[in-house]
Amino acid sequence: MSYFEQRRNLVSILKELGYIRSRKVEEAMLRVPRELFVPEELREYAYDDRPLPIGFNQTISAPSIVAYMTELLDPQPGDKVLEVGTGSGYQAAILAEIVCPKGHVWTIERIAEIAESARRRLEMLGYADMITVIVGDGSLGYEPQAPYDRIIVTAAAPKIPKPLIEQLKPGGKIVIPVGPLPFQVLMVVYKKSSNEIEIKRDLEVVFVPLIGEYGWRDEREATEYFWRENIVI
Ligand code: SAM
Repeated sequence: MSYFEQRRNLVSILKELGYIRSRKVEEAMLRVPRELFVPEELREYAYDDRPLPIGFNQTISAPSIVAYMTELLDPQPGDKVLEVGTGSGYQAAILAEIVCPKGHVWTIERIAEIAESARRRLEMLGYADMITVIVGDGSLGYEPQAPYDRIIVTAAAPKIPKPLIEQLKPGGKIVIPVGPLPFQVLMVVYKKSSNEIEIKRDLEVVFVPLIGEYGWRDEREATEYFWRENIVI
């Protein structure tokens, strides 16, 4: 089966299961070739619904969680979007398909080699004018382009980083997994006005840790936190 046929099958399964609910997410997922975002030796698994390793102990998220978080984020054409945790660049491409050409996606990654490889891949696929890849600590957000209409975090934070709330437009939304390893809760933050937010808990998820000033100190802290909590309980 060709990659396109595999992609079409996966999209129709994700629709049936309720992960894809809107036409815009469906079309974006049909357009972005996931096989080009995974390591070459893993391409045959590109349309399995599971995360895959991308090196440096990091992963490209499962297609179902990408679809689910995109639906939750509900980006609109023309939006300015910040993604924290570029990884392969796949989620950024899905977002760009929805918000561009009038909008833009800024995506920030702490591991320089991962960011560079995502930048090259996105350029090759024609996203250079739609997506800006930045190397840095995304737990601090990305002040130069703030405020954003939407912010999506694809690594698990100990708490909702304050700079992200500050860099969100009133009326904007953040989707972020919060909690230690291995399980976290997906949170949705609505900024009702400049000084009023509402937070809703959503699905239980599994993400790699957000490491940085408003994240975990390192992977160990995110894991030990879980152990400590477990022992206490
Ligand atoms: N969205 C990605 C994709 O579509 O492939 C998957 C992201 S992967 C699950 C999480 C990424 O977050 C990793 O590449 C990791 O290096 C990155 N990360 C962790 N802490 C970060 C931080 N403080 N700032 C930016 N990136 C961070």
